[in-house]
Amino acid sequence: MQLFHHYATELADLCSKVSPFPVSQAKVIMVNKQLAAELGIEAEELQSDALLSSLFGNEGALQANSVAQKYGGHQFGQWNPHLGDGRGLLLGEVKSTQGQFWDLHLKGAGPTPYSRHADGRAVLRSTIREYLAGEALHALNIPSSRSLCLLSSKEPIQREQREQAAMMVRTCQSHLRFGHFEYYHHSNQAQHLDTLFNFAFKHHFPASLGAESPHKAMLYEIVTTTALMIAKWQAYGFNHGVMNTDNMSIHGITFDFGPYAFLDDFIPDYICNRSDHSGRYAFDQQPSIGLWNLNALAHAFTPYLHIDEIKSALGTYEDTLVSEYQTLMKTRLGLYEHDIADLELAKEVDTLIAEWMNILKDEKADYHFSFRIISEHLLSIEDLKLNNIADNFVQAERVRQWCVNYHEIQQSLMPLSKQSWSGIQELMLSVNPKYVLRNHLAQEAIEAAENGDFSVFEALLKALSSPFSEHPDCSSFAKPPADNDKGISLSCSS
Ligand code: AMP
Ligand code: MG
Repeated sequence: MQLFHHYATELADLCSKVSPFPVSQAKVIMVNKQLAAELGIEAEELQSDALLSSLFGNEGALQANSVAQKYGGHQFGQWNPHLGDGRGLLLGEVKSTQGQFWDLHLKGAGPTPYSRHADGRAVLRSTIREYLAGEALHALNIPSSRSLCLLSSKEPIQREQREQAAMMVRTCQSHLRFGHFEYYHHSNQAQHLDTLFNFAFKHHFPASLGAESPHKAMLYEIVTTTALMIAKWQAYGFNHGVMNTDNMSIHGITFDFGPYAFLDDFIPDYICNRSDHSGRYAFDQQPSIGLWNLNALAHAFTPYLHIDEIKSALGTYEDTLVSEYQTLMKTRLGLYEHDIADLELAKEVDTLIAEWMNILKDEKADYHFSFRIISEHLLSIEDLKLNNIADNFVQAERVRQWCVNYHEIQQSLMPLSKQSWSGIQELMLSVNPKYVLRNHLAQEAIEAAENGDFSVFEALLKALSSPFSEHPDCSSFAKPPADNDKGISLSCSS
């Protein structure tokens, strides 16, 4: 692979040169072949021997210009200037077959100047979780960083208990976080902030450079992509868990997720992060936290933009998010997703969606199974007569009535959508996943992997990579969890 070093050379004053520190008996245990192909990386280059000598050998290409980036961040609302890559290194950038540059970042690479006395390592458990989530989100059309490969080791490391160290190569457009810009602004390093912005324009926001105000154009773009991403999280029941501004990507991609969860039961104020005592990052808080974070980022734009310009940019967030969320929910329910001129009918559609969400909430119904079961059965009159949907709910009569209303409204929408019943069902089956990365499934894959068996991890990855298709050999992954497997929350420790 050809490695570029734009960040390391053009932003040399904003990072520290650090080489990866080997772990004992490292071994590549998973390679994302499809992603490697997209990035123009030969599979052989990611095999254990080749990768290990490239990462840790004196002549190794991947360690030649590796750097730890400096950033800060608002953590649980408090400004912390002392952050940076404490256990990850940017190895360089590769050019994809589409001609775009992608970062290769090694997570768990050992101590850096920003490790703050921690060990610089990542555990097998958290790297498997990150690998799985990146692929699951990507397959759901939710932008996310992704893992290129995963290395296990025999190196013991101490967390709440003794665990195994692991490493992961992560890829995304760049590792620029809100916290990069906040740091150079709050530490009054105007020159470095300028350099950082110019780097971002040149490499990541080239369209902004042509705008009358590049800063304004860039801020609008970040507000938009962040709003669209969070709308998708809400529509697909994803709880990030640690939305600190150092974990927010300027590309509007899901990033640095540790104790995340896809919901099991629909509990809107669900908190997946056991360390989040106040529920700041609860599922239903994510849209407002997204705006809070953008506001924190916008402070770094104040040397360049008038306050009214910043307010206008932030002012577009809510409409963008709500409109995307509504479109996604209509699509998931097989409903016509464009504006409806008949206001009475438009209102009926809104009420239908609201009632569905209220049913899920009141019943604490399984979020994903509920959408999948209506995709499979809602459109057939025969199925409705057999109560194939209603029988899955305690308030069966309320659900049966909802199904009847659905049919009436769908009938009124068909002249607009020009869809047949079977066409609608096909669409619903293509947007409502059968396979979802539930925490108990990740846990199953982790426990097997910790005992040297990666087959569950592999099988789960396969199902999650095409979550709308049937995978008869993995059908147990499609079942909603048993009560004692539900709502597993995790701590930040990783
Ligand atoms: P995270 O919770 O992974 O988003 O990390 C928050 C901050 O702590 C970042 O600056 C990380 O680089 C740093 N960090 C987390 N875990 C470690 C570790 N094991 N060793 C060194 N730094 C770490
Ligand atoms: Mg982080």
